[in-house]
Amino acid sequence: MLNNLVATLPDSPQAKEKDSPLLATIMNRGNFSIQTLVLKPENEHELEQFVSEKVVPLYRTVFGGNPWHEYLRCNNSKCKKKQSIQSVYGQSKDSLTNLELNFDLKTACCPDCGNAMSFYYPPERKIQETLAELKKSFTTSFLYDGEELVGFCWLWLSTFDAIWEEKFSTISDQFSYAQYVEAIKKYFGDNTNWSMPILYFADICTAPTHRSVDNFYSLMKASLTQSSAKIAEDISIIGYNIQDETAYKLSVPGGIEPICKIPGVESSIVCLPSLKRVINELFNRSLSPRQILREQRKKRTV
Ligand SMILES: [Zn+2]
Repeated sequence: MLNNLVATLPDSPQAKEKDSPLLATIMNRGNFSIQTLVLKPENEHELEQFVSEKVVPLYRTVFGGNPWHEYLRCNNSKCKKKQSIQSVYGQSKDSLTNLELNFDLKTACCPDCGNAMSFYYPPERKIQETLAELKKSFTTSFLYDGEELVGFCWLWLSTFDAIWEEKFSTISDQFSYAQYVEAIKKYFGDNTNWSMPILYFADICTAPTHRSVDNFYSLMKASLTQSSAKIAEDISIIGYNIQDETAYKLSVPGGIEPICKIPGVESSIVCLPSLKRVINELFNRSLSPRQILREQRKKRTV
């Protein structure tokens, strides 16, 4: 089913409007659709509303739960305990927006040291960050289940140096510039051109209720094929992952090996050498994503 998607993906998105002039459908799969942003100065208000009411609540729901637990953070720098949405509210199926209606951050105390807690992603700050990220995105993909936003992915067109400045330096408590350079050189070679254009996977995630290989691959496919339609030459892709297992799923049997461990830390840089090759090996093949994963598991246990 997924293999038919390239054929239904037009070079430029059809202006089939969903909720507002802001979104255009680029792909359909049963009840699911993928929308892309149509950014125009006159859409500014719709964009802000969409980000604050849909994207940021989904972002905070995703990263506030398993396996990240990034909902609350202890203000005590020696403790830094993280609390998940579930550990604060229990296993409720209610939306985070509803759960927070009666929640007062001032009353939240760290269960370990008793200090005050803060939101890991304070809504106002996250809205501004997300608006900035979307405005500079090369491609955007939003996964809808019917009328519900359940996933998103955006890619930036950048360079190795600029990505350090724009992204990785902001999480430099996790790895240093030297470690970043070492990881990139290990994968792309000593003669890496630091100012050559690359695609950066800025964000890709699906709601906890919609975590599936098919949904993940739909977002990947929509994003990468949109990028490929926009850029004539081939290009490398990088991303960042704290979980090897998740990142590993990007690879195909006998094909692309995407992981480059950053020495001495838990993280990895996800490197893919060629956009065209990824599309070809990941999507233009007869195997479904599930079959690819099954092949990988078999191969890894041999
Ligand atoms: Zn604490």
